Amino acid sequence: MKCPHCGGRKAIAIDLHSEGFTADENPVKECGACGLVWSLKKVKGKTEVDIIKEAKTK
Ligand SMILES: [Zn+2]
Repeated sequence: MKCPHCGGRKAIAIDLHSEGFTADENPVKECGACGLVWSLKKVKGKTEVDIIKEAKTK
């Protein structure tokens, strides 16, 4: 899974359950390069990117 912001491949899965997120079906990923935090969600059969935290760099 590449980062949708910078294309980096160092994305890591993080666990945000303690902060109220439910990531059982849509694991939250954080990019190790730009800091973007996102998850993937299915909308009408299509996968869409749901940005949770914007990237640090612009
Ligand atoms: Zn990135």
